[in-house]
Amino acid sequence: TNRPLAFLLGARNTITFLPVRVAGSADPMLWEISGKASFDEEGNFLGYRGSARDVTESRDRQRDSERMAQYDDLTGLANRRRMDMMLGNTLASYRNSKRSCALLMLDLDRFKPVNDTYGHPVGDELLRQVAARITKIIGSKGEVGRFGGDEFQVILPDLDDRGQLGELAQRLIQMISQPYPINGSRLVIGVSIGVAVAPYDGFEAADLVKAADLALYAAKGGGRAQYRFYSGEMKEGAKRRRQIEEDLRSVLDTDQLAMHYQPIVDAKTEAVACFESLIRWHHPTRGYLSPDTFIPLAEKSDHIADMTLFVLQRTLRDLAQWRSAGLEVKGAVNISARLLASQVFSDGVRSILAGSDTAASDLIFEVTESATMADPAAALRALEGYREMGITISLDDYGTGQSTLTYLKTLPIGELKIDRSFVEHAHEDNSDALLVRSTVNLAHALGLRVVAEGIETKECLDFLREAGCDLAQGYFISRPLPADQLLPFCQDDTASSHQQVRTAA
Ligand code: C2E
Ligand code: CA
Ligand code: CA
Repeated sequence: TNRPLAFLLGARNTITFLPVRVAGSADPMLWEISGKASFDEEGNFLGYRGSARDVTESRDRQRDSERMAQYDDLTGLANRRRMDMMLGNTLASYRNSKRSCALLMLDLDRFKPVNDTYGHPVGDELLRQVAARITKIIGSKGEVGRFGGDEFQVILPDLDDRGQLGELAQRLIQMISQPYPINGSRLVIGVSIGVAVAPYDGFEAADLVKAADLALYAAKGGGRAQYRFYSGEMKEGAKRRRQIEEDLRSVLDTDQLAMHYQPIVDAKTEAVACFESLIRWHHPTRGYLSPDTFIPLAEKSDHIADMTLFVLQRTLRDLAQWRSAGLEVKGAVNISARLLASQVFSDGVRSILAGSDTAASDLIFEVTESATMADPAAALRALEGYREMGITISLDDYGTGQSTLTYLKTLPIGELKIDRSFVEHAHEDNSDALLVRSTVNLAHALGLRVVAEGIETKECLDFLREAGCDLAQGYFISRPLPADQLLPFCQDDTASSHQQVRTAA
């Protein structure tokens, strides 16, 4: 700041509130000076007349507030504002020299349940330790920031080698997934990472961030603890999702939704015990859409509540029909995680049941293990409410989550559904076989029934029956079918008639 002073003085300019560092002590003082050159009648320079003010203290205060505006209080990392600024500056200065810059978006998996279960001080400490691990790995190679919540970002200048970036991402995933010893507990979380590289995936900061976000979304969708590089298809996918989301708003006013039902049979007798309700969407221009594509979109908005109430209504209606045809079967409906905390939804369930001839005890609600983990307290309350109404709770996709036996014991469930991924190879893979056997034993010890889903072969069904599974479901027994094709399937319960449907379907 002293150079301009010399210049201004030399030019005899008027000085207004110019900050000047005053050397001398270890921490230089800052003065703010104002002055005006004065001259005699012949125009000779006499000197400056003015004032100086010590502004050291207010400068320090301003520095602190600038710091706070650019850094995250909790971890000391750069905040979103600073990262945006740095990314913008880096990309702008690299543009002409054709230098590259990688951007990593990190989002922690399972942070929310840990935070909810152990409390915010523990959550804060966890975030600090995560920040330290990321910083240690990145070192001076780049800049690390935290975007509030459990999102982190890394800017890596001059790095576009996919091999190196992949290794780095893998290392981050591995290090962040190591347990965190906090308050005597060993907490475990995971992380998903999206990677985008300038200039290939975007020239402007905003475009690059969008690309990294899409890659992160894909990484999360791919089953967590994964990293993904951005690709052009992701942008197409995002556009498609936006359009489907738009169409979802009014789909209940159309007749594009239909129900299919998949039989769940007694593993020993192969008699039909239950039907799982699986929703189908026949889109007028996109054709058949799998529930795996639109259910997650419906879950992001409030449509999932209305959609599930629709499924429930249809299921109860069709159950009544089967009953009048002499079929003693139950109906199983899939309930999304986010509905477990919804009062609107549980009120809806109550009123639909009140207006139906079918008893609540004929209903099963399938809830995934991870759904109960997202917000354990709310999930427990909701599940208890449904059990009191008489509905059986079935734990779906069992084995894919991380729930412990102690936790399972606290849930009011009546049934475990072993996930397809374990069932598939159980008859040929030793570790899957072991897992199935021990799950069956454990479930029976807890008084739960066991369903095996995804049975595609006779060998698989034979193994599961022998392993003690109570109920069986899968393409080998029957694919999901529209309501009007179910009666012929059920009315003759012999294996040979099942075989006919198998080949027909
Ligand atoms: P899920 O609850 O695990 O349902 C089982 C899925 O596995 C169904 O796929 C079913 O058709 C399929 N499946 C059954 N047997 C076999 C088999 O032997 N082999 C193979 N490869 N697959 C088999 P679908 O109907 O495409 O449903 C996919 C997922 O969409 C469901 O997984 C469920 O999470 C969700 N979903 C479907 N309908 C609804 C609904 O009404 N509400 C909610 N919230 N989710 C639903
Ligand atoms: Ca299910
Ligand atoms: Ca399942």
